[in-house]
Amino acid sequence: MSARVARHAAALTSSQLPSYIYDLDALREHSAAVRAALPARVELYYAAKANPEPQVLAALRGAVDGYEVSSGGELAHVRAAVPDARLAFGGPGKTPDEIAAALRLGVRRWHVESEHELRLLAAQAQQPVDVLLRANLPVTSGALDSVALAMGGRPTPFGLDPARVADCVRLLGTPGFELLRLRGVHAHLASGLDAAEQLAVAAQVVRWSAELGARHGIEFAEVNVGGGMAVDYADPQARFDWNAFGAGLAELLAQHPGLTLRIEPGRALTAYCGWYASEVLDVKQSHGEDFAVLRGGTHHLRTPATRGHDQPFTVSPVADWPRPWPRPAVTTGRVTLAGQLCTPKDVLARQAPVRALRAGDRVLFAMAGAYAWNISHHEFLMHPRPGFHFLGSAAAAGRRS
Ligand SMILES: *Cc1c(COP(=O)(O)O)cnc(C)c1O
Repeated sequence: MSARVARHAAALTSSQLPSYIYDLDALREHSAAVRAALPARVELYYAAKANPEPQVLAALRGAVDGYEVSSGGELAHVRAAVPDARLAFGGPGKTPDEIAAALRLGVRRWHVESEHELRLLAAQAQQPVDVLLRANLPVTSGALDSVALAMGGRPTPFGLDPARVADCVRLLGTPGFELLRLRGVHAHLASGLDAAEQLAVAAQVVRWSAELGARHGIEFAEVNVGGGMAVDYADPQARFDWNAFGAGLAELLAQHPGLTLRIEPGRALTAYCGWYASEVLDVKQSHGEDFAVLRGGTHHLRTPATRGHDQPFTVSPVADWPRPWPRPAVTTGRVTLAGQLCTPKDVLARQAPVRALRAGDRVLFAMAGAYAWNISHHEFLMHPRPGFHFLGSAAAAGRRS
């Protein structure tokens, strides 16, 4: 727990709660450590969809080589937030208008999801662009069996079926496609893999790409092995092993001297820099269990509801109780932390052990920096929006290149 975040949260008044608090210095430190763990021939892109707050994007600027955007909205937003940064445009269902806008903004890196999309891009490109073909590869290690968010290795709407990739490679050699430079393969297959699993997948993607190139007489210069580095909400201290991952990628690169690897993590970069601070409005007993109703809820922090986990939290007791009646309090040593929404799904943590918890106490949720505010259904029930606080020097936003 960051002492600075805890101090800041404690100083907020009730009417300033709930609030998101971001520690930008911690984010800068963490992303610099990730960059330092990676070999020089690995390019680090940040998947903006994990958290596109402009201050977050700017704080990452010094550590990343670029940003992966997956919509016209993200494209315009990220371009404005970090104007000089390189962008890669990925994601399914790119519209002709989005493609035109990205070309106008000078996006040179494209993760192409289908043959139709390849044709749309070729029809509009006026200058050379770099293309990676996103392939939904069969991964045989079993690494994907255990993860909830598998996007590949099975039928999905993402990327090209492996059998269709060759068609695209051949198409790229035909008239009308001269401005599309085929650089290699992209494969984002799952989220939630640990370093060993990520390395096993990366090795398979690189091998598959090399074999594809060999069949067509092309030596690919790049392979993007995606994001999905694991974040463990059950154990905030357990971090993805970037050093082991970097060392493994260095070994892989040693076998492929001409190759540049790219990765595009989202959650593993930003999950730890965000906090959601709230207070207990009420505590009640229902059929033998304790429930605390918090200011705010899953309309602000939907992550635990969508993933089915307990959001990690700490309690800050507040001594003052200004009411003349008894203070509602947890009686069983366990509490379900619910929000203000009229739905049983509005739960941030279920039957969590607490020493004590009373109305008026503060609760600070950790690991709220990725897929948190920006994936939540803000308008449901029309409660007020949370506050947003960015700690750390935004001015030290990083390098200019
Ligand atoms: C979502 C996504 C990522 C980032 O995934 P994380 O699990 O946040 O690391 C990277 N690449 C693509 C194509 C994605 O869709």
